[in-house]
Parts: sequence; C-alpha cells; structure tokens
Amino acid sequence: MYRTHTCGELRIGNAGQKVTLAGWVQRTRKLGGMTFIDLRDRYGITQLVVEADAEASLLGTATSLGREYVIQAIGTVVERQSKNSKMPTGDIEIKLDKINILNKSMTPPFTIEDESDGGEDIRAKYRYLDLRRNPLQKALALRHRLAHEVRNYLDAHDFMEIETPYLIKSTPEGARDFVVPSRMNPGEFYALPQSPQTFKQLLMVAGYDRYFQIVRCFRDEDLRADRQPEFTQIDCEMSFVEQDDVLNMFEGMMRTLFKNVIGVDVPNPLPRMSWFDAMDNYGSDKPDVRFGMTIHEITDKVKGKGFSILDEAKYVGAIAVPGGAEYTRKQIDELTEWVKRPQVGAKGLIYIKLNADGSVKSSVDKFYAPEDLKAIGEAVEAKTGDIIFIMSGNEKRKVQTMLGVLRIEMGNRLGLRDPKVFAPLWIVDFPLLEWSDEDNRFYAMHHPFTAPKPEHMDLFYSNKKEDLERVCANAYDFVLNGTELGGGSIRIHDSEVQKRMFEVLGIGPEEAEYKFGFIIHAFQYGAPPHGGLAFGFDRVCALFAGKDTIRDFIAFPKNNMGCDVMIDSPSRIDKVQLDELHIDIRKEQ
Ligand code: ASP
Repeated sequence: MYRTHTCGELRIGNAGQKVTLAGWVQRTRKLGGMTFIDLRDRYGITQLVVEADAEASLLGTATSLGREYVIQAIGTVVERQSKNSKMPTGDIEIKLDKINILNKSMTPPFTIEDESDGGEDIRAKYRYLDLRRNPLQKALALRHRLAHEVRNYLDAHDFMEIETPYLIKSTPEGARDFVVPSRMNPGEFYALPQSPQTFKQLLMVAGYDRYFQIVRCFRDEDLRADRQPEFTQIDCEMSFVEQDDVLNMFEGMMRTLFKNVIGVDVPNPLPRMSWFDAMDNYGSDKPDVRFGMTIHEITDKVKGKGFSILDEAKYVGAIAVPGGAEYTRKQIDELTEWVKRPQVGAKGLIYIKLNADGSVKSSVDKFYAPEDLKAIGEAVEAKTGDIIFIMSGNEKRKVQTMLGVLRIEMGNRLGLRDPKVFAPLWIVDFPLLEWSDEDNRFYAMHHPFTAPKPEHMDLFYSNKKEDLERVCANAYDFVLNGTELGGGSIRIHDSEVQKRMFEVLGIGPEEAEYKFGFIIHAFQYGAPPHGGLAFGFDRVCALFAGKDTIRDFIAFPKNNMGCDVMIDSPSRIDKVQLDELHIDIRKEQ
C-alpha cells in the first residue's frame, strides 16, 4: 500500500498512529538539527519531521530531498510543539522512521505556492505543475462539484444525458466554424459544432423529451479577453414546454447550484426583466443589477435652451453617480477621455454636479440656469452630492449602450460590484431579428431556430422592415452580475415557419435546403413543440468562485492566440499527412 492517509487528513485524534503518506515535497528546512518537510498532495499539506538523532541513512535521505520530489513517508503521528492554526493538519506532525524516494524532480521553473512567482507564459508551458497549486486544484474541484450537481438535478427531473457528434456539417451563422478535412472524402470537410443546437432539436423530434449534455463547443472567433476557442456548455432541451416551463426548470437548477455548491440563497422566483427595460435602464442586455445608477431618458428636459448638441439629438440619457460632486476637474477630464476611447465611442461627456452646499455646477452652465439643471437632477433621481453624466446622439440604443458601459465603469470604480454578491435574473422578450446596415440584411438575434412569439406571427410574415424589427421571440438569457451565463428560446417546430425564417434571413431556398434540409425535413415528421437553453459552464464556474477569468477553471486552456503552448498546438503537419488529406499549403506570403 502506497499510503494509509492523504496529506490533508490527519488530526490530533490520530496521535500515536503509525501512518504512511505519499506526496510531493513542497519544501524542506533545517532547524536545530531537525529536518522539517512539508508534504503535499491534492488534499493538503502535512509536516514531516526527522529528529536530529535519527538514523544516518534517514537523515541523509531527508537532506537530499529537492522540491517536488515524490516520496513515501512512514512514521508516527505526534502532537506538534508549535501548532499552526492556519493549516487543518497544523496540530500534528509525522515523526519519520523511513522515507522512500519514489521519484526525483528537476527544480520546478516556478514556485508551487498559492502565490506563484511564475509569469503566465511559463505557467502555461508547465500547466501540469501549475495545476499542482492549491488555487487551481480548488478551481477544478469546484468545477467537478458543479457538474456533479447539474447531473443530479437534471437526472432527478428525468433528463437524459445524450452525446451528439463532434464531426458535423459546416453551417456558419454567427461565429466561424473549425473545420476538419476528411481523408476518405477528398475535398470535403467536417465542422466541429458551435453548439449541438440542431442535434438536440432532432432528439426532440425523436421523442427524447428531456435532454442534456455537458458538452464541448468550438467557435473560431478572434479571441477577445477571456474567450476560449473550445469551451463547455450545459446544453438542454425539453419538449411540450412553454417559456415559463423552461425558466422554472432552469432557475430551479441554478438555485440548487447556488445553494448546494456555495451556500448562497437566491430569490425564488428570480426577477425577470424585458430586453427593452434592460436596454432602456441599464444600456445592456446583460445588466448588472447589484447596484442602481440606472439610465434615465432626459431628451424632453434639455431642449430649447440653445445648446445645439442636445437640441439636435434624438435621444439624451443620463446617469447619476453617487458622491461624484467631489470629482476634480482632472478626474472629470480623465473620464471624458475614457469615454472617448474607441471601445466606448462617445463624442464627449456633459456633467452636472449637485454640490453639497445646494449649488450646481455643470459643463453647460452657459445654456442652462441652475433651476434647469436641478430639474434634470430630479428627472435622473440624483441626490445632493451626486454628479450627473449626460450623453446624446441620434441612435437611442447606441447612446444607451455607451451610458451602460460608463455605468459599469463607475460601478467598478466605486466598488459596487462585489463578486461575492450574486444578483441573477432572466432577460426575456428579445427581439427576434437584428438589422445589419453593413450587410443590409437581418440576422437572428439568438439563432435561426428561435420562434417568433405566436402573437407576432402576422408581423413575421410582413415584408416591411419596420414590422419585422418589431417581432419578438420567446428567447431568454440567464444573467449574473453583468455576465450572460446562458440563453435559449422556444424553437420553431413547423417546417413552413422555419422556411420563412430562412427567407427573412436572406437564406434562399436552395441554400436553406443544402445547409439545413435535414431539420426542415425532420419537422415534417411530427416535431413536438420544444425549447431549451445552454449555460456557459466555464463561466458559471468562474462566477461561482467570484472570479472573472475562465482560464483557471479549465484544466488545459488555450492562450489569447488560441494556442496551447504546453503541447505546442496548433502546429504544422507533415507532407505525408497533408497528402493523405488532399491538402496543399499555399506558399507563405
Ligand atoms: N445553442 C444555443 C447557444 O449555444 C443555446 C440554445 O438556444 O439552447 O447559444
């Protein structure tokens, strides 16, 4: 037997027992002739001690140990002289009789401590060493716990976990597909799934009325911060359901995860906010509702005072930032520059300070009398001591989005976004379609399988752009603390409606048949009404841990360039492989 106990297990009650532990040498130190060794495994750290008068061979072995050596340690549990209350095993140590070196280790390129001295690149290259560190072990343990609870909950509600294929057909809509060349079918390619969307719908047609899968998905997107080209979804679908059935089922699941995994109670039922309210009040379809500072429209309040920028704007909105009347000129200038960065895209920032002494001061004093400014303050529900930030423009949603970005930034600066506070909610009633001026066509706001609301069917069959823009869907997002954790919809299950959807999206009948014929046909064989959703599992893990980067919650993630520097992937393949795949690589430009 390699070990009788783990390194996190022994307590004072075990004193006197003979034990055998196995693990990695975290560090060794000598003190007054005694040698202390911290032995680590996944479960914790136990202190080992070799007495000054131990046998020479044991002393010799103890002093020869390097960091990360793998050893087996045999000895007796004894009470420690100087206890360490910070460690669960801190009351005891193991007085050693014998050490067996199971394997040596080169000196690791960085310290395997909670706070490592290794930079990100080196830790990525030696991910298997980084994974020995406690924070990463905790992160993966949380991931495991969450997956386990998801399976328990869904199993208890009659969901079946069914695997769907990874080698499928390329139908890029939204993100780019990763493709895989087919050796047996020269010139043809599989695509890796961006999600199992069509397969889970086919499972509904097949009668598996409650499906789920914790499944890898692949999207070949330019990697924005904290995106991974392969990521995991909790993917679910149900038949014979309306929107409420889906929302109730999955807020039940999320409530169970909150309670069982991190001991947090969230409201029952969860709040639901329409997409329109989210945009109007928060300037975002994933509002962070942990704090107020909501957006107020003041278009009517600012007109007719001779200030042409606001007079001409179709939409004027504002937020009131608590305590902001204290801001210095320099701080306001810095914020103004901040909103002018391309990532925000504002032209400028108008401010009104409601000073503690009752006076007002603004960047537009020339045009507005103090009473006008105070009236704006009231409209924005600002308090004495606040600063009001105003933005304007012709496109309401654009201005609201910029105010929304500013709101989040102010929330960050004011410490209003505590990651240990959880404010989940549903966003509902999304528009079905989104017009792109650039491409002069509609895109599906969620995806092309999302059904129009039954009461909007007439609008859906209209050929007028403004009618189609008004069509809403029974689509929903699960939002937590300003992040979209999941989303889904009630689906189209009628082949004629599905055809119409493709038509609206500018996908001609031939193209629709080529790309999606299988699903249109399937709908002709008794497709039940159905709907579902998917959660981004990596992000669920990160947010439950109060973190905002998903990388630590994936055992072997990719870097910002989509590379795994540990295995050096992607990489070239040799000529023989290329030939088999019927692929020529163009000469490098
Ligand atoms: N397949 C969708 C997605 O990946 C989720 C859903 O509609 O169920 O976003």
